[in-house]
Amino acid sequence: MSIAEQLLKIKQTIPSPAQLVAVSKTHPAAYIQEAYQAGQRIFGESKAQELQEKQQLLPADIAWHFIGHLQTNKIKYLAAFVSMIHSIDSLYLLQAINKEAAKNNRIINCLLQIHIAQEETKFGLSEQELNELLTSDAYKALKNISICGLMGMATLTEDKEQVRKEFRMLKQLFDQTKVTHFSGQEQFTELSMGMSDDYPIALEEGSTLVRVGSAIFGYRNYNS
Ligand SMILES: *Cc1c(COP(=O)(O)O)cnc(C)c1O
Repeated sequence: MSIAEQLLKIKQTIPSPAQLVAVSKTHPAAYIQEAYQAGQRIFGESKAQELQEKQQLLPADIAWHFIGHLQTNKIKYLAAFVSMIHSIDSLYLLQAINKEAAKNNRIINCLLQIHIAQEETKFGLSEQELNELLTSDAYKALKNISICGLMGMATLTEDKEQVRKEFRMLKQLFDQTKVTHFSGQEQFTELSMGMSDDYPIALEEGSTLVRVGSAIFGYRNYNS
């Protein structure tokens, strides 16, 4: 099947208002162009310089989402145009993004990454760290970032019930966070969860942004 056919097949299974982030990392601009021509507008990348290079080559109305682990010295490559950063796991990083956003006279949309998997290696905040961050004065002083929701990655396992349990936990935390920290603020709407192997479960559990790569573009040469 072609990229366009795979894309359209997957899109049909995503109920509105949930949206598809087509994860194009490692793949050439031509693949992105093909998906773009099939109507896709949101693309996800996980390396700042790779994202910057692709942004320069491709149509200006693409919404670029950064989904990888972001180093503070790389923020400058994407601050001028990035549409959302999914993977923020510290106040320090948020402050650094705020600073680059201010230089560009922008407000950057951000998601806070929550650690929901069993693997220790995965990034993300605990529930307690999330609450500490959102109640801190340092966070409240940030004027050039907007927290639009939460993001998480489930354990890499064949056990679908485990995956479902983790997504359900994240959805509960999202609902609770919205009430506790964002009441009356309408931007807190996004729950980014689900990848090629588990996005149908994520959608059932309330995902609003699924990040799907290999199911659209095929296998990658390196994992990132
Ligand atoms: C690579 C990546 C994806 C997409 O993974 P697939 O299994 O190829 O769909 C989604 N989210 C993050 C954070 C990623 O790094």
